[in-house]
Amino acid sequence: MTPLTVQTVIELFYLLASILFILSLKWLSSPSTARRGVLAGELGMVIAIAGTLLHHGIVDYRWIAIGLVLGTIVGVPLGLVQMTAVPQRTALSHAFGALCVTLVGTSEFYLRSPNVPRFMMTVLAIEVILGSLTFTGSLMAAGKLQEVLPQRPITYRGQNFVNLALLGVAVAIALDIIVHPGAKALFPAMVAIPLVFGVMMIIPIGGADMPTVISLLNSYAGLSAAAMGFVLDSKLLIIAGALDGSSGFILSVIMSKAMNRSFTNVLFGAFGQVEETAAAAQETRSVRSASADEAAAILTAANTVVIVPGYGMAVAQAQHKVRELYDSLSKRGVEVRFAIHPVAGRMPGHMNVLLAEADIPYDRLVEMDDINGDFPQTDVALVIGANDVTNPAARSDSNSPIYGMPILDVDKARTVMVIKRSMSPGFAGIDNPLYYMDRTLMLFGDAKGYVNDIVREFSANHS
Ligand code: NDP
Repeated sequence: MTPLTVQTVIELFYLLASILFILSLKWLSSPSTARRGVLAGELGMVIAIAGTLLHHGIVDYRWIAIGLVLGTIVGVPLGLVQMTAVPQRTALSHAFGALCVTLVGTSEFYLRSPNVPRFMMTVLAIEVILGSLTFTGSLMAAGKLQEVLPQRPITYRGQNFVNLALLGVAVAIALDIIVHPGAKALFPAMVAIPLVFGVMMIIPIGGADMPTVISLLNSYAGLSAAAMGFVLDSKLLIIAGALDGSSGFILSVIMSKAMNRSFTNVLFGAFGQVEETAAAAQETRSVRSASADEAAAILTAANTVVIVPGYGMAVAQAQHKVRELYDSLSKRGVEVRFAIHPVAGRMPGHMNVLLAEADIPYDRLVEMDDINGDFPQTDVALVIGANDVTNPAARSDSNSPIYGMPILDVDKARTVMVIKRSMSPGFAGIDNPLYYMDRTLMLFGDAKGYVNDIVREFSANHS
């Protein structure tokens, strides 16, 4: 092929990859098309890589082959983590992407300096600053979620000022390099300061806010990749980076809204500092508990049951047992639906994915706003490993750290049953008044084991 036709093929590949990325995002927005969305994204990436490999600028494929092998060695185990560990896994991916962007930007600078046009130097500076702070910020976020770093926010007086001053110095250096692109000695400082800023930015944020922060870092990683697209003159990178940047930002906004928190509150509010005091002040009131056979009897007598899944169901991998419970109850003529809170679990859509994996029909899954009005007419609300998303303090206690967060109104159901192992708090680290209500029965045990016991009771005594 002549260079011109190769170039045309590359452009066509890139166009196809861009279309697939856009379709992928569209399809990922609904559980019924999400699988197709994942496939479209993967296919788009394969086509994008194939197009890049055709590039006539490549003189030696050996380094690329080594990179592909190393990437596969690291990537495959990363893809096999438990679903509950996906947020920290995603943070690691952002860290790798951001490191790559920073290294490419650095090499481009030293290759081109001092002949870097002003626009090019501006986007290169944006690329490197965003890339560096996203690299260390994402590593910190992954460490907090994996609990290898303390989850508690660490704060000190004047912290926000120090952080903003650091960023200000990095921006000032960037402005100087934009005007004097031959100032090679300053460049390392423009990389190093945002690296420190990334660490400092995450220190005051509590573990409970990490998923939202990761989504924001996703947005930064996307923007830095888009900036790299300008530097490398790659339309595909600009499109993919912009999609990544905007979708990450929109997701952060959706998550903040679902927790009734503002963006500034997530970033500067040091949420989670109350954890220890709340745990210490935990209720000493008694609760009512029940056995699996009692729970089975109550469920069989019900006409309507709403199951509320949460993080504990995910940890216990109880979704397939929950499917058996759904089948048993439906067979007995009980109307069973699932109430889905937007931030149940540890990532958006977590519950939808798990329940879809167990083949629970999509039309049985009802979003929070659509089901809340039905709880007063519901015979039994069965909460399986959910806690914060059912906490009525969010509605009634203005001193509660989660006050204002929209919750599932399970406390309004005629009977509430809660499967969890102990009285331990959920992710926000606060007590749940739901457990002390007269119509609440605590079913203490592991979600999978307990649901299994109920299903066994059905076949033994209620068939
Ligand atoms: P929570 O984290 O509030 O509670 C989970 C409960 O599950 C715990 O109280 C725990 O109690 C119980 N549990 C743990 N393991 C098991 C098990 N094996 N069997 C039975 N129960 C178990 O979960 P929710 O889903 O209610 O709320 C999600 C939290 O995550 C919210 O605070 C939300 O704001 C936060 N969050 C979620 C995001 C998302 O995108 N989904 C993003 C950002 C934050 P025990 O130890 O007693 O068993």
